[in-house]
Amino acid sequence: MKTPSSSALALSERALGVPSSPTLAITARVKALKAAGRDIIGFGAGEPDFATPSVISEAAIGGLQDGQTRYAPTAGTPEAREAIAHKLVTQNGIDCGADDIVVNNGGKFTVYLALQALLNPGDRVLLPTPAWVSYKPMIELAGGIVEELPTAPGADFKITPAQLAEALTSRPRALILNSPSNPCGTTYTADEIRGLVEVLERSPEVAVIADEIYEQLVYTSDAYRSLASFDSMSERTVTVNGLSKTFAMTGWRIGYACAPGDGGTVVKAMTRLQSQMTSSITSFLMPAIPAALARASEDVHRMREAFAARARLMHGLVARWPGVDCPRPTGAFYVFPDLSALFGRRSAAGTMVTSAMSVASALLDEAGVAVVPGEGFLGCGGNHVRLSFACGEADIREGCARIEAWIEGLA
Ligand code: PLP
Repeated sequence: MKTPSSSALALSERALGVPSSPTLAITARVKALKAAGRDIIGFGAGEPDFATPSVISEAAIGGLQDGQTRYAPTAGTPEAREAIAHKLVTQNGIDCGADDIVVNNGGKFTVYLALQALLNPGDRVLLPTPAWVSYKPMIELAGGIVEELPTAPGADFKITPAQLAEALTSRPRALILNSPSNPCGTTYTADEIRGLVEVLERSPEVAVIADEIYEQLVYTSDAYRSLASFDSMSERTVTVNGLSKTFAMTGWRIGYACAPGDGGTVVKAMTRLQSQMTSSITSFLMPAIPAALARASEDVHRMREAFAARARLMHGLVARWPGVDCPRPTGAFYVFPDLSALFGRRSAAGTMVTSAMSVASALLDEAGVAVVPGEGFLGCGGNHVRLSFACGEADIREGCARIEAWIEGLA
């Protein structure tokens, strides 16, 4: 943390304590380097490279042309909330209605509002790690304390029921479960979710935030199972989802939460909080929500198939890197190889490789490839780098070949 200053604009301890998102910083750096003419392959960005399906854009343009330009209901229009509830009932088996839904300015803000609604200062939150970079700062901004549940690459970065049972003895307030996982690219099977649910049933006072934002991007034959689809979990789970990843809509900022429990108290609290912070999402985007959920399934299928092919391609290419271990990606659009076997060696350009951070920085400078160093993801993340395959196959081939050549040059 930086030292507080005594000037009029001295920052609060809260502001000083928040790191900026390393993933967004890398995306911005790659854009700047490319704009300056450098030949960079970007494996950093956590966003699809596809265009938003036109049926969705047209619905938003229609909303604008129809004059939907005034304040909208804070939690979302009835049509948008109804469409989300219908999706969750029919696709995810979650027993909910429109009143159990709140629409927010992106899934990131959804997670933050859920934490603000649930946590008191000092409450502990179980967080399987490696974890998405924003959970820890957001838990801490909400006054909570992170209790890491470390996972290992050999176990596909998944917590076990026994590990969860042990962690629950310390009486945490909440658990965050993110599947498919950013950064790990792995997905809990339906049976694995059931195993965790059986343990959670013994601690009914613990809330669960199930971050299912990549739920449509799964590349196994196993059917995806939402945590809140279990009867015992539906009343105590806040399901987080959004349009960013599934529909190639990262810039639109549309996320949502579903929390049917306790008469919708969490959804109401999130709505109250949002009413004092941002109000509703941009009002003319509301018609895009039913359009995406009801009319873009063919586009989603096309993008999922492309991601599945890229997952296979990238995993196959990473598997060729000498000394590097990488679990098979089964969801989201990331691989998360363990590069620790390279630590202690020197690159052809003279960089001593000591950490994921040093690998990422050398790859950018010496090989022209942007990856995200794993340190920000906690747990064993510091041994890994995250590579996103949300880019074209030609880039995947070229970028992986450059990394392979760089690794082969290590002395
Ligand atoms: N949850 C996870 C695990 C993510 O990776 C992201 C985005 O990177 C989000 C939530 C939030 O997505 P957005 O705010 O773009 O909807």
